[in-house]
Amino acid sequence: MHTIRTIKGMVAWSRSAERDGRSIGFVPTMGALHEGHKSLIKSARAACDAVVVSIFVNPLQFGPMEDLERYPRPLEEDMRLCRREKVDVVFLPAVDELYPSAFETAVSVQRLTRRFEGISRPGHFGGVATVVTKLLNIVHPGKAFFGQKDYQQAAVVSRLVADLNICTEIIVRPTVREPDGLALSSRNTFLTLEERKAATVLYQALAAARDVIRDGERSAKKIRAAMIRTIWEEPLARLDYAAVADAETLEEVRSARGRLVLLLAVWIGNTRLIDNMELLCR
Ligand code: AMP
Repeated sequence: MHTIRTIKGMVAWSRSAERDGRSIGFVPTMGALHEGHKSLIKSARAACDAVVVSIFVNPLQFGPMEDLERYPRPLEEDMRLCRREKVDVVFLPAVDELYPSAFETAVSVQRLTRRFEGISRPGHFGGVATVVTKLLNIVHPGKAFFGQKDYQQAAVVSRLVADLNICTEIIVRPTVREPDGLALSSRNTFLTLEERKAATVLYQALAAARDVIRDGERSAKKIRAAMIRTIWEEPLARLDYAAVADAETLEEVRSARGRLVLLLAVWIGNTRLIDNMELLCR
């Protein structure tokens, strides 16, 4: 396994793999790797000849009051996981390698970023879109793998790749969960034991909404109310947003028909968690 820290080195490796006719699968991450990341790496391993994983805690996608400083960075463990999963290259750029002092360009996706995470975390998607564009230009993969866990992010990345004619296929893989339903997240490590128990409320809220839909409810207002009620019942949880949206456009709907996504952001103590569930309604 190679560790590459420079853009020049990464570009040279990728172009050489391309010349050898090897397809590249790319998994961009912020590290603190868990089973969710591992499933993306396995998908890349299965679909491509070579696998590149980037580990970069992107300061551009964190707001001034967010958890950039305390974000976990267990590099040794991450490298071990990558080695075990037969990753070919870990791309590990420093902040000033990707953002030298003269850097002043941003990639901005418009409509899709004006709601949900875009409202709660102003500037977040500008940071995501900019770093993903840079990474795709540097690594030049045939396929890049993202998790459904970050539903809006996957939609934003798919949009920008289509709009900017970037020749990478975006593949979105299902959310990996703990046995009690909690979606794996690097931020789960912030939770105390008590908070960890409370955090299952996100999945419970999504499941409650799914159940009322199964029972025939089609009013988005009532479906949303089922999610909100479940969150309110957990004293350690504070709702940020709950929404019933069209799975494609992410516009909120009034009535549940076709492909939908339930979206949720909840504070558990000082930790903000997100989750979602895709549903097909007839
Ligand atoms: P992050 O390191 O949090 O930026 O995530 C890197 C990639 O892993 C993103 O595409 C995430 O959507 C994906 N990911 C994070 N958590 C999970 C999960 N529980 N299941 C599947 N993919 C995930």
